[in-house]
Amino acid sequence: MQELTHYVNGQHVKGTSGRFTDVMNPATGEVQAKVPLATKAEMDEIIAKAAEAQVAWGATNPQRRARVMMKFGALINENMDELAELVSREHGKTLPDARGDVQRGLEVVEVCMGAPAMLKGEFMDNGGPGIDLYSMRQALGVVAGITPFNFPAMIPLWKMAPALSCGNAMILKPSERCPSTSLRLAELLTEAGLPDGVLQVVNGDKEVVDAILDNETIQAVGFVGSTPIAQYIYGRAATNGKRAQCFGGAKNHMIIMPDADMDKAADALVGSSFGAAGERCMAISVAVPVGEKTADALIERLIPRIEKLKVGPYTAGDDVDYGPVITEASKTRIEGLISSGVEQGATLVRDGRGMSLQGYENGYFVGPTLFDNVTSDMDIYKEEIFGPVLTQVRAQNYEEALKLTMDNEYGNGTAIFTADGDVARDFASRVNVGMVGINFPIPVPLAYFSFGGWKKSAFGDLNQYGPDAFRFYTKTKTVTARWFSGIKEGGEFNFKAMD
Ligand code: NAD
Repeated sequence: MQELTHYVNGQHVKGTSGRFTDVMNPATGEVQAKVPLATKAEMDEIIAKAAEAQVAWGATNPQRRARVMMKFGALINENMDELAELVSREHGKTLPDARGDVQRGLEVVEVCMGAPAMLKGEFMDNGGPGIDLYSMRQALGVVAGITPFNFPAMIPLWKMAPALSCGNAMILKPSERCPSTSLRLAELLTEAGLPDGVLQVVNGDKEVVDAILDNETIQAVGFVGSTPIAQYIYGRAATNGKRAQCFGGAKNHMIIMPDADMDKAADALVGSSFGAAGERCMAISVAVPVGEKTADALIERLIPRIEKLKVGPYTAGDDVDYGPVITEASKTRIEGLISSGVEQGATLVRDGRGMSLQGYENGYFVGPTLFDNVTSDMDIYKEEIFGPVLTQVRAQNYEEALKLTMDNEYGNGTAIFTADGDVARDFASRVNVGMVGINFPIPVPLAYFSFGGWKKSAFGDLNQYGPDAFRFYTKTKTVTARWFSGIKEGGEFNFKAMD
């Protein structure tokens, strides 16, 4: 049995708490490793070491820090297949999808190679007579990243690359279900020239998270995970005076207008609802066709596409469409929600319950599931299922579809499929959701924009990566300066306007 470690001060260290949790292989249901769960005492010591290391790193000029990102990016590329395999082994997603997971994180590293340009301050000469004003962006100190299981490479990279390139040290607490990719990324950063202690990867559960939230040295917390935990972490971090951006769950709607290309809409829905077994915060889980004819046409196209889907372990080859869900508890929960949909009156068009794959009978596979005639009072509509379940809610017109999307408590992503530019513009402008796709089902913005939902999908200020990340991970200092040569006045006691 492999015993995983923490990565502290540039090396792997064993946990000393005596507490472990199992890392499962979701395709077989077998335990493949055990990961140590750190204690508050271990954590406080690790944070203190990070604070020591941050002093020199924060004083290193930004161009040199950027060179570490350049080398890191090259190493991620060189080790792409190995990283993807680590992702698939613990998460269960297919290898092509795992490569995408690494790639979308790598793109943020690439933007961070240009961090110096983002860290420049502002300057105003002669803001008053002989008076110059300038602002600087300075590192916060030690910051923390707490990440979910579903993107074991991408989200840790979204956290570490901007935080480190701004001159901070980071404590990264990856999901205890998929910790190995973060440990490997930390090794690659050491190889790229990151000084020891600047990135500390600490494994753990609530005890470690609470130790981060209560530690006075930690200046900011970037969290991604489910909404209840996001809200909890946001509250506790803010109470303790820390910056916090906490991204939560989602229930993403896709509106299909009668003039949409129905085949393209059906393709988009199948890929975005069932890809990665529906375990993406940007997965479309609610299809909202406008008009009965559109709804019928869509169902007619979805069924054959769903029947062709191949579900299996990542080792079965690149033609597998999606793999298992993350845990047995998750499978049980998803199947329970499917049953609730039947009991509450939705039409079950395709049922993925009870799936068992030959040779993988103990794996956590859930077949693709499609519901029609779903209404907003049903649990399958209200809850984030986070599994391969697509629900269809029929709307009579565009305004009804828009209202449904806007009334939902989540606001991560949404999409509209239409051939009408006016409707698309109106939708993009009015909808109260953070990321919008037009004929595009998973509108994850590229790395030089930024990522963030609205409503209960995000708590705090500023988005992840892109220009917002450089604001989140630095604080602004503004200097007002004058030089006394030529100024002969005595003391000044009034608060003067700079006229
Ligand atoms: P999760 O909330 O269970 O766990 C996320 C992190 O919080 C993990 O590191 C975990 O160890 C920690 N954690 C769990 N319970 C905790 C507790 N009680 N106290 C303190 N820390 C705790 O989420 P998950 O199951 O790993 O990930 C899936 C969720 O993440 C989904 O809801 C999904 O929508 C969401 N997600 C959101 C985004 C986004 O950007 N909005 C991106 C990816 C995933």
